Amino acid sequence: MNKARKLIVWCGLLAVSVAVTFAQNSKDLRVYVIDVEGGQSTLFVTPAGQSLLIDTGWPGQNGRDADRIVAAAKKAGISKIDYVLITHYHTDHVGGVPQLAERIPIGTFIDHGPNYETSDKATEEGYNAYQNLLATGKYKHIVPKPGDVLPIQGMKVLVISSNGDLIDHSLPGGGEQNSFCKVSESRPADKTENSHSLGVLVTFGKTRILDLGDLTWDKEMQLMCPVNRLGHVPILIVSHHGWYQSSSPALVDAIHPQVAIMDNGATKGGSKPTLETFQKDAGLETLWQLHYSNEGGADNTNEKYIANLQGPDTGNDIELTLTPAGALTVLNSRTGAKFSYTTK
Ligand SMILES: [Zn+2]
Repeated sequence: MNKARKLIVWCGLLAVSVAVTFAQNSKDLRVYVIDVEGGQSTLFVTPAGQSLLIDTGWPGQNGRDADRIVAAAKKAGISKIDYVLITHYHTDHVGGVPQLAERIPIGTFIDHGPNYETSDKATEEGYNAYQNLLATGKYKHIVPKPGDVLPIQGMKVLVISSNGDLIDHSLPGGGEQNSFCKVSESRPADKTENSHSLGVLVTFGKTRILDLGDLTWDKEMQLMCPVNRLGHVPILIVSHHGWYQSSSPALVDAIHPQVAIMDNGATKGGSKPTLETFQKDAGLETLWQLHYSNEGGADNTNEKYIANLQGPDTGNDIELTLTPAGALTVLNSRTGAKFSYTTK
């Protein structure tokens, strides 16, 4: 076979394999909760192949986190990330942006507006590096408000929180008095970037997934008390890596998720009180953790639901596949085991 012929055959095979990949999953939403060692990076890929990445992990480490994101994109069969949403400007969320942009095309960036922690050196550095990238003019840029729906197709992404503001009305299925407000202590207002997190509620078919970034306890109380504005949410990406500064009972117990996924590191997030909140949550079927939490001890979830155990880091992710009818499969990429849920 001459070179040109070989190339045609090779391209043909590639096209077939890509087509098969999409045909197999053509109706499902795929979500990759990527291990960025206690930061956040969650990739959503719609049936039509549109993508939304929530946060980019840490900088440095020879692009470790950006490489892990690109690897997840490859698994999903995409070669471009359409939307990158930055929840806020702490290093573990915005830090990976420049390295990611070097490795994969990005369409649009979404964020909450200017940085609130200008006096914090690391935060300001991460913010400035991101601003420099936006200033190239190569990317679209959206700064949405609570209540806005992002323009991604194939799933509905509703903004719940941004820039310290919260959605001001109850969603369908919400609006009931929240009995968990009285067992959630009041805490002082957080003044950091965390409380300005851009949080979203994703609706796909019959199911909803909540990701509020690092939104803090005080904002959760404003959002959920006295009335639960969100109603029941079957799948929760646990706020703030499972740190005790978030995950009030007023949020967690009121939305009573069936499946919660904590993007904690070995020594970041995964606080004992937060793990206990999830252990006590009656409606929860499984708490998943990206890492075994050293602080958590016996309060860690069952080992089969942990993607990275103690010892050398292997960067395993947690992969969700969701059908429009609400059938959820969660894969632990460490073990290859899949677990099925019927979300309702
Ligand atoms: Zn964080």
